[in-house]
Amino acid sequence: MTLFSFLGLSTKARAITVNKVAPQFWWAGMKNPELQIMLYGDKIASADITLSSKDIVIKEIVRQDNPNYLLLYVDLSEAAPQQFDILLKQGKKSATVPYELKDRTRKGEDIQGFTSSDVLYLIMPDRFANGNPDNDVVEGMKEDKVDRSDPFARHGGDLKGVADHLDYISDLGATAIWLNPIQENDMESGSYHGYAITDYYQIDRRFGSNEEFKNLVDKAHQSDLKVVMDMIFNHCGSENYLFKDKPSKDWFNFKSDYVQTSFKTASVMDIHASHYEKKIATDGWFTQVMPDFNQRNRHVARYLIQSSIWWIEYAGINGIRQDTHPYADYDFMSEWCKEVLDEYPHFNIVGETWLNSNVLVSYWQKDSKLAAPKNSNLPTVMDFPLTDLMNRAFDEETTDWADGLYRLYDYQTQDLVYANPMNLLIFLDNHDTSRFSRTEEMAKNLTRYKQAMTFLLTTRGIPQIYYGTEILMDGDKADGDGCLRKDFPGGWQGDKTDCFKKEGRSQLQNEAYNFTKKLLQWRKNNEAVGKGTLKHFSIAHGTYVYQRAYKNKSVVVIMNGTNEEQELDLAPYREILPKDSATDFLSGRILRLEKRLTLGKRETLVLEF
Ligand code: CA
Repeated sequence: MTLFSFLGLSTKARAITVNKVAPQFWWAGMKNPELQIMLYGDKIASADITLSSKDIVIKEIVRQDNPNYLLLYVDLSEAAPQQFDILLKQGKKSATVPYELKDRTRKGEDIQGFTSSDVLYLIMPDRFANGNPDNDVVEGMKEDKVDRSDPFARHGGDLKGVADHLDYISDLGATAIWLNPIQENDMESGSYHGYAITDYYQIDRRFGSNEEFKNLVDKAHQSDLKVVMDMIFNHCGSENYLFKDKPSKDWFNFKSDYVQTSFKTASVMDIHASHYEKKIATDGWFTQVMPDFNQRNRHVARYLIQSSIWWIEYAGINGIRQDTHPYADYDFMSEWCKEVLDEYPHFNIVGETWLNSNVLVSYWQKDSKLAAPKNSNLPTVMDFPLTDLMNRAFDEETTDWADGLYRLYDYQTQDLVYANPMNLLIFLDNHDTSRFSRTEEMAKNLTRYKQAMTFLLTTRGIPQIYYGTEILMDGDKADGDGCLRKDFPGGWQGDKTDCFKKEGRSQLQNEAYNFTKKLLQWRKNNEAVGKGTLKHFSIAHGTYVYQRAYKNKSVVVIMNGTNEEQELDLAPYREILPKDSATDFLSGRILRLEKRLTLGKRETLVLEF
């Protein structure tokens, strides 16, 4: 039953109209006993409110500038699971809004977040697979067509498409999926990417229903796949009712008037930054159609925090990826992370920290010494600087003091800046960057691909793979975002090729896919790589050598970053070579590790001890 229909049933002829209730239900027994219930309807603010419940206490009723909103703050500390009514009375008019406090189906401690033992597979749902062509166009929604020839239009992919291919993802060996935003984006255009939310509590109906999402999470869990949901607290879509009919002007920054952000968020932690720079970066709007929430308004803050808790509790997701994290108010984001982790101590949140140095990225990680005494409480940050380096390192000739793999070594010598280097999301590419293969020509270079994938899956951090990388999909950001977000071949009925299947992939694609699968499946239960220490050596003979070790197991990676054969003196590496022979996991060869080791050009060895 939809909200509208049940409200319709319960209101009488001389009725007050309540159009939306957010959240639509809640749970008894949450750690935080306070709940904000937002009622939205035609001039309802002057109504008197009572509750039919005996153990739920109204703490505060907030009326804002706009008469169409009522904010109810209730105390649930003594409340049992129950159904009750919110009764509105306005002169002779009245309304009864049924509300439910559900019984929790799991404890907060039972939700397991993603960790460095996981590998995330990032999916743009509109572009992955169309499992249900019937929902491609939903009557009444503003963008009412699909056009696969237009990179900016919707293509029809959906949650059913993801659910239908969970086997593919789990066969590949990823252990979690991260979906680009799936909440409603009822925008005139560009709604496919999902970053302009128009209803925080509703899955976009062109992707599916709330229930379908919950079922997808259940199905993923049955396949040992965790689910990470994308959220956006910095801004919403301009078609969101909260913006179109704003509760008060201070729900959005710059008093709800459009001012463009500078995108220069380094100013947030720049000790030399002017007040102007700080303000324009965080309070400016992402785009004119993405107005910037003022999270310093406590009602806005509560609304956003609750929406995230609601999805965790409702669907049982394992993690959140928070968009444009540094663009939002620091103290609010910190409080949000704290509240989520108080409620779900094993949960994980990764913030999109798109900053160009490790110093700046590290500032955003929980327990950063640089941010102290402030604390972001954000467990995981995105290692964008490493992405840039990985997109150069495997193309260059490595020398012992510069270029190529030296960049990776040099960068990781600076990991002391991070409070927790294992909680860095690491990736070759994502939906906003050029694909790792920027051109078709680059995609043909499998040596490059294999070295990069081996490094990604064996160094410290939480690896993330962007859908299609494993089948060598290419795309250059210079050609527009659409070409980074092409349809996965085989995701649509009638596609000429089906890359979900071996027969549909070219020989080159199968070689990349099989290599990736082999490493991913191996990594799944490999504690040395999943949670071990990292010990590395400076570059010698253009070769990078490092060890991952956990308890009595270790993995040693030896990577030649040159187009020459290299002869390695093994004496410097004795402390990580406990035996005089080892098997290379990649080739299956047994190698003698006595005095010297010969490496072919660009050869990579993964030795297991
Ligand atoms: Ca569809």
